[in-house]
Amino acid sequence: MADSTKHPTLTIDPHTHVADLPFIHYQDNTLFIDNVSTKTLTQTYGTPLYVYSKNALLANYRTYVASFAPLSNVQICYAVKSNSNLAVLATLAHAGAGFDIVSVGELARVLKAGGQAQKVVYSGVGKTKNDIITALNAGIGCFNVEAMSEIELISQIAGRLGKTAPIALRINPDVDAKTHPYISTGLKEDKFGISHDNAIDAYHFANTLPNLDIIGIDCHIGSQLSNTQPFVDALDKIIELIDTLHTQGITLDHIDLGGGLGVRYVDETPASVSEYANALLPKLLDLQKKYGLGLHLEPGRNICANAGMLLTNVDVLKPTEHKNFAIVDASMCELIRPALYGSVMAVIPTDLSTIAAAKVWDVVGSVCESSDFLAKNRTLALNVDDTLAITGAGAYGFVMASNYNTRPRPAEVMCDDGSHRVVRERESLDDLWRGESV
Ligand SMILES: *Cc1c(COP(=O)(O)O)cnc(C)c1O
Repeated sequence: MADSTKHPTLTIDPHTHVADLPFIHYQDNTLFIDNVSTKTLTQTYGTPLYVYSKNALLANYRTYVASFAPLSNVQICYAVKSNSNLAVLATLAHAGAGFDIVSVGELARVLKAGGQAQKVVYSGVGKTKNDIITALNAGIGCFNVEAMSEIELISQIAGRLGKTAPIALRINPDVDAKTHPYISTGLKEDKFGISHDNAIDAYHFANTLPNLDIIGIDCHIGSQLSNTQPFVDALDKIIELIDTLHTQGITLDHIDLGGGLGVRYVDETPASVSEYANALLPKLLDLQKKYGLGLHLEPGRNICANAGMLLTNVDVLKPTEHKNFAIVDASMCELIRPALYGSVMAVIPTDLSTIAAAKVWDVVGSVCESSDFLAKNRTLALNVDDTLAITGAGAYGFVMASNYNTRPRPAEVMCDDGSHRVVRERESLDDLWRGESV
């Protein structure tokens, strides 16, 4: 496919764009996040720089709580993998969030940030013996179990430790999430979960094993979904299973519908959290009335994506006959979403008083890979040393950063109504070769 069809020329109006972002606005032509000027941020901390808004994180979390308020026993388990900075986790833990983890490293982060083990659900296709021991000893709230052999392994280990393991089975409901294939997880051919057809057998198998407390049923069908229909379809499939299990004497405490609701990066129109809630609530209220079921949700992106930005400096402007390249100090190492998924993310100026002729630019990093781009064919008025902001970078941004090309990972800064502090220092070269020897 020709490049220009994959990436048509895109002109983003900065004012319109930020109007949709919580706690991000222009004031006197300068971009602010949570009432902190991006000029102050880059002068204080340099670039490339990840910046987050504490109040946007809280507002996004509270929108979930408010939207599902008609239901009792709701636990919003923030998906740690989307942004696992300790300050982000501490902010959400303090607000009452639970956490969805996919590794014991993430469990350690949650505990260090002040999260409660009891509110942790542990997802992941390949849990090791040591992972299970660590999570059982920490006293997590629920294992989301993804395979028959895992059910057996958890039972054995719990027996050895003299504990009872709380489990939910992650069911693959075989619905098409209509999202990017790399972030679709609920189709028959995906590696995730126990197939819908085997679900009832899996519950009965678990029921025969000792040291297990079967408390829930779980699914997660993909990420960056914009329509509510696939969620409703998945819920319908899970309800069928719950009804069947109930008639066969297996009763549950909660249903977990995973995460996956999308956000607007540029011009997508994903369902809002309240539309998502309204699509699911009638069925969930019915389940609560019939079986007393509580609800777990595992949103990641929806809570942190638009609460963060990546600030980057324009180092080199290189107009050529075919293309104009703006080479910036961020790259696929700091933000891999465009290179990995072909994601289109908004790039906006932090200073609207810049005077330059608008041209169409590819915004690229300086890494030796042709996939190293952040944005293609963008209409921007650029000068060398301008600072650009890539919005939506609060999720799957820093957490996916690498040190390829021996690039230290950027600092992360938390802004909170006019104040700002480093929540992860910029890496030094010493950090990069720690543990190596000549
Ligand atoms: C990644 C993931 C999530 C979070 O997905 P988002 O699209 O960020 O909301 C939730 N649950 C599980 C099991 C996941 O793997």
